[in-house]
Amino acid sequence: MKPQHQPNILDGKGLSLNILDSLKPRIEHLEKELGITPGLATILVGQDPASHVYIRNKRVACEKVGLKNFHYDLPEDTGQEKLLEIIQTLNEDQNIHGILVQLPLPKGLDYREKEILESIIPSKDADGFHPTNQGALMQGNKAPTPCTPKGIMRLLEETGVDGAGKKAVVIGRSNIVGKPVAMLLLAKNFTVTICHAHTKDLFKEVVEADVIVVAVGVPELVKGKWIKPGAIVIDVGINRKENGKLVGDVEFEVAKNQASFITPVPGGVGPMTIAMLLSNTIESAELMLKEKN
Ligand code: NAD
Repeated sequence: MKPQHQPNILDGKGLSLNILDSLKPRIEHLEKELGITPGLATILVGQDPASHVYIRNKRVACEKVGLKNFHYDLPEDTGQEKLLEIIQTLNEDQNIHGILVQLPLPKGLDYREKEILESIIPSKDADGFHPTNQGALMQGNKAPTPCTPKGIMRLLEETGVDGAGKKAVVIGRSNIVGKPVAMLLLAKNFTVTICHAHTKDLFKEVVEADVIVVAVGVPELVKGKWIKPGAIVIDVGINRKENGKLVGDVEFEVAKNQASFITPVPGGVGPMTIAMLLSNTIESAELMLKEKN
């Protein structure tokens, strides 16, 4: 992979563009064989500014590769039942191969997020959040994989690291990043430790790690000096400082001098998440084609 600014910066933005390019011929093949363009449904409820930006980026990526986007911009007071009804329609629509509900749903309006996510049929679960798909991940079965963890593993692949005999430390235990990425690292033979808010001594865990994945949401929580020389650092966090600057969960300026590879924020994990979302949708369409034949 081409270095971004320095040889050890893992350029997620550049890699994601290559991945998006590689999806185009697969879409064309599906158009020829299925007679339809694969489609991703995106659902946004309410006016959260960050969610608007995330959805816009996903929709722009769809347009770039030629994936059909069916977008639902819904008012904050849409309600649980109406939302479930829309998802049910999309589940049955043959033109839709992936369904994404942008999280978080508006607070205080009694949305039951878990029920919403579970109402998406697992085969169209482009985000890979459905318990059936998360269970498949646990057991190492093929199923849509959560996008950020999948993107992280693709970035690690670029470094050529072999998990056997290596220690990976994951900081953060969310269902969308920490837990699934720990499972994927385990499947690649890493010896995995998961840290979280109740971990007593983060430094002690990090200093021994060959690979560190940080998904917490605390600016520069992991100090550069903690990084073992030559370790690989994947920074998932996105935090906006008071001066408006975006920073990750790792003290980048110091850590980059310790690490053999490190992801920047922005331009590291974020763009990979979007590329994997589109990739999941195309994989679902390919599977549907295979089942049809
Ligand atoms: P979350 O917000 O659901 O949970 C945070 C996790 O961090 C928890 O498991 C908690 O135990 C742990 N934690 C909190 N304080 C800690 C501390 N002091 N020490 C150790 N662990 C601590 O997690 P999330 O939804 O995975 O999001 C984490 C960050 O990743 C956020 O900044 C989010 O914006 C970002 N994110 C980025 C992408 C992307 O595509 N780049 C995708 C998802 C999330």
